[in-house]
Amino acid sequence: MDSVGVAAAAPDAGPGPAWQSKCPWGAPSTTSISCSLADVMSEQLAKELQLEEENAAFPEVVAAAEGPFITGENIDTSSDLMLAQMLQMEFDREYDAQLRREEKKINGDSKVSISFENYRKVHPYDSDSSEDEVDWQDTRHDPYRADKPTTTPKRGFIGKGKDITTKHDEVVCGRKNTARMENFAPEFQVGDGIGMDLKLSNQVFNALKQHAYSEERRSARLHEKKEHSTAEKAVDPKTRLLLYKMVNSGMLETITGCISTGKESVVFHAYGGKSATEDKVIPPECAIKVFKTTLNEFKNRDKYIKDDYRFKDRFSKLNPRKIIRMWAEKEMHNLTRMQNAGIPCPQVVILKKHVLVMSFIGQDQVPAPKLKDVTLSNEDMKKAYYQILNMMQQLYRECNLVHADLSEYNMLWHDGKVWLIDVSQSVEPTHPHGLEFLFRDCRNVSQFFQKGGVAEALNERELFNAVSGLNITADNEVDFQAEIEALEKMNEDHVQNHGKKLSTFSSDGDPPIYDE
Ligand code: ADP
Ligand code: MN
Repeated sequence: MDSVGVAAAAPDAGPGPAWQSKCPWGAPSTTSISCSLADVMSEQLAKELQLEEENAAFPEVVAAAEGPFITGENIDTSSDLMLAQMLQMEFDREYDAQLRREEKKINGDSKVSISFENYRKVHPYDSDSSEDEVDWQDTRHDPYRADKPTTTPKRGFIGKGKDITTKHDEVVCGRKNTARMENFAPEFQVGDGIGMDLKLSNQVFNALKQHAYSEERRSARLHEKKEHSTAEKAVDPKTRLLLYKMVNSGMLETITGCISTGKESVVFHAYGGKSATEDKVIPPECAIKVFKTTLNEFKNRDKYIKDDYRFKDRFSKLNPRKIIRMWAEKEMHNLTRMQNAGIPCPQVVILKKHVLVMSFIGQDQVPAPKLKDVTLSNEDMKKAYYQILNMMQQLYRECNLVHADLSEYNMLWHDGKVWLIDVSQSVEPTHPHGLEFLFRDCRNVSQFFQKGGVAEALNERELFNAVSGLNITADNEVDFQAEIEALEKMNEDHVQNHGKKLSTFSSDGDPPIYDE
């Protein structure tokens, strides 16, 4: 096609549609792309057509892309949809369970077995077996939790004598089948028999179910395509559902938009709502940290958690999705410890799977600046330095923690003081690499303040000793590091020999203090 500059032809190169400029989840509006008019026309047409198609297949995905705000107002129209999505998850799980049973039946004791893995709806990594954890800590009734279906007990019958009803009873079974029909996908037309005393025979039910499966699979494939394209920008449907639930329950008033997209997490701002319980107060503004469920990014973080004895037993048994939840859990525990020690840091509001809600450091939707982005007066810089020195000591001694990612990127300047954030990777000092992490933290802090002109700033080795109370005398980095590693090794050997680690390190020549 011939290339005519379209920027000039466009009526005015102003911002895009209103929702786009307001939309914090939307891409920034780009201007003047130079291509032919015909190109634009056809592209637009193609987009429209695609949108129409998607609208028909997945209204929810498109709606989410265009309506980034999760508020009390727009929740009503979408809650049915959310409900449908939850049912969908249940349905998928049931379907997979059925597949597994079939697989088992077919394979029996045979040495050669076939696998239905490819037919499963829920990929093992996706499996969201929420049954195995305490969920939705809010004690308030969760309107989306399906009431537990009444089931026939394990022994397979109810009642006594001639009143015995088994699970094969035609009437019971028929009613159950009708009820289960509700679990079919939302798009699946089952008529309005639900609610009547319909009794579907097993045969009819199974045929229906079969049909529902194939319909579902067809749309799931479409869905997947769409999902991959948006997952990077916003959040996956399950997370969206969690967020909706928080707004729906009234705990959050509005989720206004994204304040940070990192490699491992996305952080949103929200206005707090009302707590279900009297004793808990939701902060007026909240930060929602969503740990990314794309697994690759977390692989290189294994060493933080794998060796953390608090999580060790569980680590080996978990699938990657659960490990990511553990990061969120770690952040919650660490923040709580810090809060208890009086260290300025976000206050935990609620943890729900891989989503952590905490108080917002900042005001009116504007997050407090990172230390790296703020220009402080000499006086404030010095004040910040001493505050951090103090916080590092408190963290080590009172919280028994090493931040492990401490730098000007994870310290915010707010209300005339420094606030620590991002503590999901923080470990206890006796973690096999705890002291190395501490040394790295010290190096970052020293360098930042020395460059920032704080003459009093200790060098990294002095700072390390000041924080840990250890007395490593090496006067150069290499030897210092070697001593740190020797201490860590001593601790590890102790673990090997005694099955438990030292409670503290000591390098004063005294025997190490054991926690008996
Ligand atoms: P990451 O692992 O992506 O670095 P962080 O916890 O550091 O995650 O959060 C990323 C960014 O989000 C921070 O640099 C900060 O700007 C913002 N942020 C995180 N938590 C809060 C909070 N409680 N209040 C205000 N801003 C926050
Ligand atoms: Mn960070």
